Amino acid sequence: MQYNLAQLLKEPTGSWREYEVDEPITGPEDGADRARGRVEVIRTHQGLVVRASLETQVKLTCGRCLKGFEYSSVLTLEEESFPINDPGPGEESESSAEPDDVIYLDADHVLDMDDVVRQYVLTGVPMKPLCRDGCLGLCPECGSDLNEEKCKCNTALVDPRWGALAELLTEGRE
Ligand SMILES: [Zn+2]
Ligand SMILES: [Zn+2]
Repeated sequence: MQYNLAQLLKEPTGSWREYEVDEPITGPEDGADRARGRVEVIRTHQGLVVRASLETQVKLTCGRCLKGFEYSSVLTLEEESFPINDPGPGEESESSAEPDDVIYLDADHVLDMDDVVRQYVLTGVPMKPLCRDGCLGLCPECGSDLNEEKCKCNTALVDPRWGALAELLTEGRE
């Protein structure tokens, strides 16, 4: 997700570009993670405003059954962007600036969205992802995946507390 905006920066306020996105992204785990949607860049008189509306899909591991699964979410962002050599009038007031909300272009005026999208994706991912609502998790005795098979252990399979117990066991293992 890299866009050269040198030309747009020479254009008058209000000029804009739109980019279709369908690209691999780097999620929290190794997977065929992807973002699809669009990125819009608008020239303002100070710099640029970047808007993105992306559907992201990343691979996560279920906190109960430990299986990998696809997690989809929709990401919308709007941030300001400035050429690295010309941070605009806010340059002097370092303390009040919020660098997190600003994307800087590199020296060639290339906007690199990869890190920004990655940050947004990581913030949006649940702390304890579940592959589905009510995932039964692993048997605390034998480790069988209770979504797939009933093991012979003497545990109450329908009791949702076992899911919570499996979580505790999982945490203990880490
Ligand atoms: Zn699961
Ligand atoms: Zn079991």
